[in-house]
Amino acid sequence: MTPSRESRRACKHLLAGLLGPSGPEVTCEDCFANLDVYVERELAGDGADVLVPGMRAHLEGCPACAEEHDSLRDLIARDTGGRI
Ligand SMILES: [Zn+2]
Repeated sequence: MTPSRESRRACKHLLAGLLGPSGPEVTCEDCFANLDVYVERELAGDGADVLVPGMRAHLEGCPACAEEHDSLRDLIARDTGGRI
């Protein structure tokens, strides 16, 4: 019951190629699980990268998560009156 499993694997494979084996590894599952908290912290300027280490590297290496991140950030920014 996980139809997107294959695309997530492909995404992780792409990330591994960009970061190499020694980078902090955030999977797409981790990324989606932490995305709302991460974006809230990011908009608040409150240590998003400390809270979720490796998240930024994942977003830079993963177009799917980056797009999700951007739309969520836009949504939250709108909810909070556009303060970024
Ligand atoms: Zn991803």
